[in-house]
Amino acid sequence: MLKGLRVVISAGPTFEDIDPVRFIGNRSSGKMGFALAAAAVERCAQVVLVAGPVALPTPEGVAERIDVRSAQDMHDAVFAAMPADIYIGAAAVADYRPREILPSKLKKGDGILQLELVRTADIIADLAVSRERPRLVVGFAAETHDLEHYAQGKLRNKGLDLIVANRVGIAGNGFESDDNTVTVFWPDGRRNIGPLPKRVLADALLDKAAERHAQLRDSTPSSTD
Ligand code: C5P
Repeated sequence: MLKGLRVVISAGPTFEDIDPVRFIGNRSSGKMGFALAAAAVERCAQVVLVAGPVALPTPEGVAERIDVRSAQDMHDAVFAAMPADIYIGAAAVADYRPREILPSKLKKGDGILQLELVRTADIIADLAVSRERPRLVVGFAAETHDLEHYAQGKLRNKGLDLIVANRVGIAGNGFESDDNTVTVFWPDGRRNIGPLPKRVLADALLDKAAERHAQLRDSTPSSTD
């Protein structure tokens, strides 16, 4: 149960505009984040869903859905949704954006086009060190290789409590597919889950998240508990 807990979930890709017609984005359908939102509603959480550009209906019972486009929009929306008890960063946030957005359509030439890209802010890493930090911060890592190495690194470097790692680049797993196989890592353990449909996987992930949240709450009671 997540009764009485406020859960903020980010889902989908972000689009970083180059000009009024083109953008840079990640491959993400948003299905995993939306499945997590539906599963959290079923557990009686108050769910806020911050969604990048996706073609998915809002799961019934979601308290608030905020549609965003860019990483900066998502950053602002996630921080505006605080305070919360749990943040799940299931969004595939673009790591780079064009330094400037051109006001009119870039005309093509014959040669190479060079775009100047700058890093976007890391939403989950910023949140994890902020005063607004939810008690439980859950990230995702999509990797094509060295899954464990990179996932453990992100868990530490981004200051997360749990990370859900999945191998991408395999047919029928991750991104746009309906099924997924993941390994969940936390500072002193791990669990393999799947292959399972994303909605069933969402339940297993929330079981783990609820368990960790309760452990952290019991080990670090705050004045409001
Ligand atoms: O570094 P990488 O993008 O692989 O990390 C994935 C995790 O970090 C996901 O939980 C994703 O939502 C989050 N992230 C973020 N802001 C970024 C990049 C990633 O919150 N700019």
